[in-house]
Amino acid sequence: MIENLSGECGMGRRRKQVVKIVRRTLPELYLCPRCGKNTVKAGINKSTSKATVICSSCNLRSSFDATRNMVPVDAYCVFVDQHYSQGSQEETEVA
Ligand SMILES: [Zn+2]
Repeated sequence: MIENLSGECGMGRRRKQVVKIVRRTLPELYLCPRCGKNTVKAGINKSTSKATVICSSCNLRSSFDATRNMVPVDAYCVFVDQHYSQGSQEETEVA
């Protein structure tokens, strides 16, 4: 008589530990929608209620009225929206 042993191999599952390192000491720089670099700075001038967003790499910039509770990330979102809604208009400007 031959008995089939159930061939379960007891290999333990190994879990990979993923350690994410988040650096919070960096200045608040965001990804530029035009040049794709992480060089966009967003700031809000509380006294004038103006938000200014500038890419230090390609000089893409925008400033607009900030709402009272606006934070730099919000300004950046507006900046990106503006950029995409403008499309490629800035290159069609012919004098
Ligand atoms: Zn840029």
